[in-house]
Amino acid sequence: MALRRPVSTPRRAPASSLAAAKEPWQLQPLSRQLRAPLGTHPPSPQTALGRLQAVRPAEYARTRNHLDGAVTGLSPYITHGMLPFAQVIHTLRDRHGLGLRHKLIQELAWRAYFRHRWRHDGERIFGSLHAGPLPDSAYASLLPSDVLEGRTGVPAIDQAVRVLYTTGTLHNHARLWLASYLIHVRKVHWRIGADWMWAHLLDGDLASNHLSWQWVAGTASAKPYLFNAENVSRFAPAPWHSPATAIDATYTELEHLARAAQALKAEPGAHPGVLPPPVRSVPPQDFEFSAPDAAAIADREIWLMHPWSLARPPDGALCIAFIDLEFHTRWPWSVHRWAWVLAHMGERAQLRWAGSTQACVQALGRARAIHGPSDPHLPHPIGAMLSSPAPAFAEPVERCRSFSHWWQQVNDFGAAVPPSAPLQAHSPPLR
Ligand SMILES: Cc1cc2nc3c(=O)[nH]c(=O)nc-3n(C[C@H](O)[C@H](O)[C@H](O)COP(=O)(O)OP(=O)(O)OC[C@H]3O[C@@H](n4cnc5c(N)ncnc54)[C@H](O)[C@@H]3O)c2cc1C
Repeated sequence: MALRRPVSTPRRAPASSLAAAKEPWQLQPLSRQLRAPLGTHPPSPQTALGRLQAVRPAEYARTRNHLDGAVTGLSPYITHGMLPFAQVIHTLRDRHGLGLRHKLIQELAWRAYFRHRWRHDGERIFGSLHAGPLPDSAYASLLPSDVLEGRTGVPAIDQAVRVLYTTGTLHNHARLWLASYLIHVRKVHWRIGADWMWAHLLDGDLASNHLSWQWVAGTASAKPYLFNAENVSRFAPAPWHSPATAIDATYTELEHLARAAQALKAEPGAHPGVLPPPVRSVPPQDFEFSAPDAAAIADREIWLMHPWSLARPPDGALCIAFIDLEFHTRWPWSVHRWAWVLAHMGERAQLRWAGSTQACVQALGRARAIHGPSDPHLPHPIGAMLSSPAPAFAEPVERCRSFSHWWQQVNDFGAAVPPSAPLQAHSPPLR
């Protein structure tokens, strides 16, 4: 069976197939889209702290696999540095007396492990780490339009696409289902799916996302992740249930499907679709940015805010928000994610710069000192000017090939971060 006609970029679905224009970005100018409510995860530090305080570890351990389980909803705040990762871990440990082996700490540890792999493997995490069930060339390099528009006819998949687009987030189980369906049923290369999901997630983290997709694909794990309609019925509410669809199969049948080169199509019949939110590689015009300007910061002490460090800058610091346009040319974001990040940056920063890595580094070279946490998403020359965040765990230094190997060697939490840790000044390398 051949793939349905695939598309490479988001495009309008035929009007007749679209659900009523309920989503705020449908039929609205970009500026209206950006003011659309950000729903379940508003970009505010108060919400982030409130969520951290509301965590129920015992409930989490019991129910986390269910779509309506007591998951924390912390990931966008952690990814964008509104809640520093080590602070989250230490708060949970101290408030609830959680040990290293508690389920919640272990799930958080996956994030640290994926970063460990990124640190050691670098760019290699963006290609298959080893062979999966089929060679890379057996998978399509374009997303089928019915998946992109959430009209596959498999309710679990179409619901997941809608939740991703409307909230910018998705329960872990739904991410697993969506990735597994795309790779093993529709035979789309994991990297295509990973880039697409990353662009729409408010918590998109290149290590957690791309390595999770590889884990589902079977290119970073011993076997592919497969799921069926029975699994969906167990963990998701009724509108997600998918009897009599391609995923209503036994695991033996799904195993065969994953190892067969043939892709299945969307379910027969017409299914209502939705528009994907537009994806952009530059910040929307609604937010004013200027080119990096050395004169504006000459001999000043500055705090560099970037999309992975949205924590409140210290009082008195000159705060500059920076968007690296080279990074986003490679890794664009949905308008939803731009709005989330920029709403917060706009409130906090006195200066907003967008430009190339080189232009930023040159301008920063005129500052007296630069403060702020680094992050692996930053290009190296900028990251190297900033402080490494406190580690959440006492991690092994040498590369570990599997989570279990890494986790066995983590024997403690990272050193405590004092609440009022003094800023670490960094002399800029260029003067
Ligand atoms: C295909 C796929 C793509 C994913 N992409 C991302 C991503 O881009 N960014 C991201 O933060 N997570 C990603 N995850 C992991 C996980 O799905 C999300 O962290 C989680 O669903 C976020 O919701 P929560 O904060 O309520 O999580 P909770 O279950 O409440 O977990 C608490 C925190 O632990 C961490 N965590 C939990 N599970 C995982 C995991 N499996 N891997 C890594 N960290 C975890 C997150 O920081 C999360 O906020 C992905 C998983 C899959 C299967």
